[in-house]
Amino acid sequence: MVHSSSRPLIPDCTLAQLEQIEDISNLVCHELRTPLTSIQGVLKILHNEQFANFSEDGERLLGIAISAANRLTRLANAIEHRSEAIPSMLSLEDMKRLKLGNDLVCALSRQEFFLDYQPIISITDDRVIGFEALARWNHPDQGVISPTVFIPLAEKSGLIQPLGLSLLEQACQQLWIWQREFPSDPPISMSINLSSVQLSQSDLSQKIQEILLRTGVTPETLKLEITESALMENQDRALDNILNLKEIGVKVHLDDFGTGYSSLARLQDFPFDALKIDKSFILSQNWIVSEAILLLASRLQLDVVAEGIETLEQLQSLRKIGCDKVQGYYFSRPVNNRSASQLLARKTEDYRVHVSSSSP
Ligand code: C2E
Ligand code: CA
Ligand code: CA
Repeated sequence: MVHSSSRPLIPDCTLAQLEQIEDISNLVCHELRTPLTSIQGVLKILHNEQFANFSEDGERLLGIAISAANRLTRLANAIEHRSEAIPSMLSLEDMKRLKLGNDLVCALSRQEFFLDYQPIISITDDRVIGFEALARWNHPDQGVISPTVFIPLAEKSGLIQPLGLSLLEQACQQLWIWQREFPSDPPISMSINLSSVQLSQSDLSQKIQEILLRTGVTPETLKLEITESALMENQDRALDNILNLKEIGVKVHLDDFGTGYSSLARLQDFPFDALKIDKSFILSQNWIVSEAILLLASRLQLDVVAEGIETLEQLQSLRKIGCDKVQGYYFSRPVNNRSASQLLARKTEDYRVHVSSSSP
């Protein structure tokens, strides 16, 4: 029977740990049952055959010994029953998640992770000004898995640190190639998402600086995206990291702006370069909030990128309220590096079609 609750009963156990629990339970049961069988045998003989010869105290002690042995038998039964029940106490979803968590451990060394790139367009310049790198996991059995599934697992297992840095290096290598192949002024940029766990790593900026040196990418063309919720998890360490990153010259963008819990008052304390209007505001056509974000950003001298533009109408509305950097399926879904290169090669003509058709 599958447990119906989606809340994991043993939330932090990996499949290997569960198997370990089962092994330990089996061992305890075995160690209890082996002496118990002989003790119970002896107690039975004493009870049946020699009962008449016991003193009153002897009878009492025999009774206590029999009930103690029965108690231990019940304990052995309970442990055995529980270890059998462990897998069925987890929901199917939990079991899948545990299995994925296990697979994740080998996935990095097997190079199963890759990046897709989604263009960021400047409507005023009619061109692709950069890309957002989005991680994917090519699972051997399950095909391509979304980052919304595996990033939280990687965060829990600690794998996010090597994985995050490896993806960052991959994205910087690609950026360096594109900046040479498609030179522009300013050069195209690469936006990369940072997880809250990475943001609490004390050597984050040092590791990123090493990647920049190895790949030859100019720090100003790297944009690190941090969500409001990641920021809230460890504000002091996050602020230290952001200050260090700013010192080495990389740009920091506040992702999914408007969906988290950050206090607007603290916005000024963090040296962001841009805000990303969350796609939920675009989807719900909330132009009042979008315009308020643009106004706030302009007062704080921050750039703005709107994401999740799927229709011409949405693009036109954003243009009207003065947003000129956009990203979304209307222009392109996240694509592999070859298709992204093709977008760069035919950028002007293609995007002008979208942009001019959006003019009032
Ligand atoms: P995000 O940073 O907000 O990324 C934007 C997400 O919106 C992407 O989903 C993208 O494919 C999707 N998107 C883009 N345009 C549209 C549109 O027009 N309509 C709709 N409905 N969606 C659009 P994706 O690739 O599934 O990524 C989901 C999230 O996973 C990202 O959200 C980000 O938080 C996280 N993520 C992705 N790659 C990485 C990574 O390398 N590191 C970390 N830490 N997180 C990552
Ligand atoms: Ca993002
Ligand atoms: Ca976002």
